[in-house]
Amino acid sequence: MLSNKFTVQEIDSVRKMFDECRNVVIVSHTAADGDAVGSSLGLYEYLKKKGKSVTVVMPNFFPDFLKWMTDADKIIQYAYHMRMGKSFIAHADLICVLDLNETSRLEELAPVILASKAKKIMIDHHLGPEKFCDVTLSYPKSSSTCELVFRLIYALGGLQHLTKAGAEDLYAGMCTDTGKFTYNSNDPDVFFIISELLRKGIDKDLIIRRIYNNFTEGRFRMLGYILYEKMKVYPELHTTLFSLTKEEQARFHFIRGDADGIVNIPLEIKGTKLSISLREDTDKPRILVSLRSVDDFPTNKMAEEFFNGGGHLNASGGILNCSMDEALETVEKALKAYEEKLRN
Ligand code: 5GP
Ligand code: MN
Repeated sequence: MLSNKFTVQEIDSVRKMFDECRNVVIVSHTAADGDAVGSSLGLYEYLKKKGKSVTVVMPNFFPDFLKWMTDADKIIQYAYHMRMGKSFIAHADLICVLDLNETSRLEELAPVILASKAKKIMIDHHLGPEKFCDVTLSYPKSSSTCELVFRLIYALGGLQHLTKAGAEDLYAGMCTDTGKFTYNSNDPDVFFIISELLRKGIDKDLIIRRIYNNFTEGRFRMLGYILYEKMKVYPELHTTLFSLTKEEQARFHFIRGDADGIVNIPLEIKGTKLSISLREDTDKPRILVSLRSVDDFPTNKMAEEFFNGGGHLNASGGILNCSMDEALETVEKALKAYEEKLRN
């Protein structure tokens, strides 16, 4: 049995909204990751099976290694198809906001979602949710939004409406948000959920191959370049840092998603507590910051204080509107501020 996280009131409200809606739009965060796309398509499968008309709208691109998911090709990427996106949102009577806690994570979609009169449900696991939805299911201790979507379907007694494709989507997001179940996944319920997903007939090994063994040669050689030439190690601070300019990305025929997950790798160095990545955005003049840590080092605090961002204890991100050299200086400042915590 799965323990119940939600209150009776939350379940009753969501049940009513799911029963009464006809046209649903599901949105998630900018530069969607496995959990964003997985939770969105997982919920899409469930609501479609319940006879609803459902559309997934993402603020912009999502990585190629998620495109195997059933109906991934039907996802509307708002930045490139605004009219179509606006039209679906205008006709929606329910909007589900998944895997994000701040409207800023919706980019250009934010004003359109906020202006919509549709009922709104947020399902998320980031700290400190903004309250702009009618129902906010915010459970920051959860492994992933996919876990929460499964829990919700289960609590609604709707497991029969979860398709095999939906189970694949939810497994994928749980897997990517926990580094293949190597962090944020000590809750035994996570494995109960996996066993239920397996009962839907998913092939977890195939899903893992589709996500992780699906890189271009360029990405693989870029990884080698980063680890061999770019990564700086601060042994006393148990910290690593690498940066990647637009020119360097171009050398390796960078495509979107190619940098995903590389920031996790330096944590494999013995004793490393914190890994920082700085990457020049290929779309806009800005630096994308990613932070990963182990144990109790609070990357979210560092991201809030120094990188205009936030996230979870062990995985956070942010954005710096400056040059790479200035971003590197900001990192030095951040490391100085957290020196004591990092040394010990
Ligand atoms: P990533 O390094 O994969 O871009 O982000 C790691 C985590 O940090 C994500 O799960 C996301 O929750 C959070 N994050 C990334 N960028 C931002 C940001 O700009 N603002 C906030 N609040 N969180 C972010
Ligand atoms: Mn997530």
